[in-house]
Amino acid sequence: MMDDTEFIIRRGYGGEPIDIQQVLGKVKEVAERNGWKRDSVRLVNQGATKEVELLAYHRVSKPSLHRVYLSTGIHGDEPAGPVAILQLLKDNVWPSGVDIFLCPCLNLTGFPLNRRENARGIDLNRDYRDLKSEETRHHVEWLKRKPRFDVTLCLHEDWESKGFYIYELNPDDQPSFAKKIISRVAEISAIDRSSTIDGWPAENGVINPSKDPFDRPQWPEALYLITNKTRLSYTLETPSSLPLETRITAHVKGVRAVLDSISEHPILRMD
Ligand SMILES: [Zn+2]
Repeated sequence: MMDDTEFIIRRGYGGEPIDIQQVLGKVKEVAERNGWKRDSVRLVNQGATKEVELLAYHRVSKPSLHRVYLSTGIHGDEPAGPVAILQLLKDNVWPSGVDIFLCPCLNLTGFPLNRRENARGIDLNRDYRDLKSEETRHHVEWLKRKPRFDVTLCLHEDWESKGFYIYELNPDDQPSFAKKIISRVAEISAIDRSSTIDGWPAENGVINPSKDPFDRPQWPEALYLITNKTRLSYTLETPSSLPLETRITAHVKGVRAVLDSISEHPILRMD
């Protein structure tokens, strides 16, 4: 299904690292050809003298009934997310009336090293409270300039899990997309139906972490989002034990499950 997969995957060692610049080059080409507005996060240094661009896009919709935020590539050893974004852009099937804010790779320096953290050894997805890294600081500044989102989706991978699972943060008990995501992804991937995943109680592949975010010292991106930008957040985790192509398709299906049913969702405008 992925005509470009062969050239963007450097096969041979470890977990099939991708050439992130090549993937993002394609993302840029396809997004801009299809009318997405580039709205990147600008990093002032990262040790370099020139500005570094964390690519971001906005699909502007008129009328704008819903807003979806989609991000990935925050862990440099999790290649399926950025390639899934490229696949979604190529498929170019988007619901009408939905504004989409897209960050296809939040950790540019981690991917060349094929490691979770950025080049300075900071796990960006634990840094959304302290904001020690350039990436999270500028990303948060960027997020502050955006409107609130109806739903946020963060695409990740898990090197230890037996199957696909999601985290759902839904403090107001809104209608949930969780079952739709799981049943769609189950078409292609095993689902981790353990009663405990990653130390959290889980049911049918869904974790609902209940703890107050302010009790947690280190915030992942999703906790920043649920505290400041949305009231409904999903983190999708594909199992890295499956082939990369399957994990990419799993993410595509998970995102599609939300986009395809969002028009049935109550419109929540909180700004
Ligand atoms: Zn991750």
